[in-house]
Amino acid sequence: MILKRRNILKILSYSLLFLCSPIKTIYAATKKIINQNLSSQQKDIMFNQGTERAFTSSLLNEKRKGTYHCANCGALLFDSVAKYDSGTGWPSFTEAVPGAFNTKVDYSFGMKRIEYHCATCGAHHGHVFADGPGKTGKRFCNNGLCLIFKPSE
Ligand SMILES: [Zn+2]
Repeated sequence: MILKRRNILKILSYSLLFLCSPIKTIYAATKKIINQNLSSQQKDIMFNQGTERAFTSSLLNEKRKGTYHCANCGALLFDSVAKYDSGTGWPSFTEAVPGAFNTKVDYSFGMKRIEYHCATCGAHHGHVFADGPGKTGKRFCNNGLCLIFKPSE
């Protein structure tokens, strides 16, 4: 009797593993850690949908000309001309480089938001809202830890 129950448990756990494996495979195929020097906080934001604390980013007051790149894969994401002070405590941009991001609808925390992630490596960067200034009317609210700024001069 005991042996039988063990076997059933074994079969159940194997089928559970089998059911979960395709999900893991899809995750691995779309999200990939390229920069092995990412901090645990960066990994939590970029691969676990985390959020850095507001007003903590060193990029908040960055006003120099230059470009913003993905901290994981280095892809070009924003030009400094699109950056503005939204007052939210996160680096904000009115426009992203075309094709830099893919988006998906995010229902977490009981809100409907548009999440965006790097089109090259899949790393999460932030959420985009429709209350931005300028001709796009968009506000890309980006975690500063996901970005690397490269000044042009
Ligand atoms: Zn990337």
